[in-house]
Amino acid sequence: MSQVKSKLLEIRKTFPGTCTLVAVSKTKPAEEILEAYRIGQRDFGENKVQELVEKATSLPADIRWHMIGHLQRNKVKYIAPFVHLIHGVDSLRLLIEINKRAKNEGRIIDCLLQMHIATEESKFGFDKTELFEMIRNDEFLSLENIRVVGLMGMATYTEDKIQVRREFRSLKELFDELTQNLNDSHPIDILSMGMSGDYDIALKEGSNMIRIGSAIFGKRQH
Ligand SMILES: *Cc1c(COP(=O)(O)O)cnc(C)c1O
Repeated sequence: MSQVKSKLLEIRKTFPGTCTLVAVSKTKPAEEILEAYRIGQRDFGENKVQELVEKATSLPADIRWHMIGHLQRNKVKYIAPFVHLIHGVDSLRLLIEINKRAKNEGRIIDCLLQMHIATEESKFGFDKTELFEMIRNDEFLSLENIRVVGLMGMATYTEDKIQVRREFRSLKELFDELTQNLNDSHPIDILSMGMSGDYDIALKEGSNMIRIGSAIFGKRQH
């Protein structure tokens, strides 16, 4: 059996069926994606628009493509026709652009708001105050072609499991608070947290969508 297949089957055994596994295939060739596809994997994540578009064009049409990386506004138009879920939304301006492009396509695009939970300066995302300001903003409330369906976050890259746990827990608390504060047009039910190195902790803290790359496909070159 191929590496990809056996790794994927092994990981699937470790989490409940209520959790969605997004196989992060960035930098990996179509052939390896197809190996996962053949054993039923349908959710795949990419972090570069061009690579995402190329793969979506050449791979089976029933794959659900997740945009997990930082998304620039001028590139939204390329993925708007087909993207399944955009994980890294970190500004109202970006949501407005996604809404505009979704409208052009006659679609409603599901989005996750990226929250800044790590201590690292470089990570993108909203903080709590910004989040609650935005969801009360009239402009946000007028967007009809996007749905905010949940939150996404990345913990600090550290060996300190207690810190990672604390950060995931804070995201789960925000998620619970948000569910009570958004209306029916935004059915909040996705909490995207956990990667190869920390998904076990994320699952214990209430994640229901994990984004796993290297643990399935092996180390990336870049
Ligand atoms: C690359 C990436 C992942 C997967 O990382 P692994 O450590 O390889 O599992 C998950 N989420 C985001 C946002 C990524 O960019």
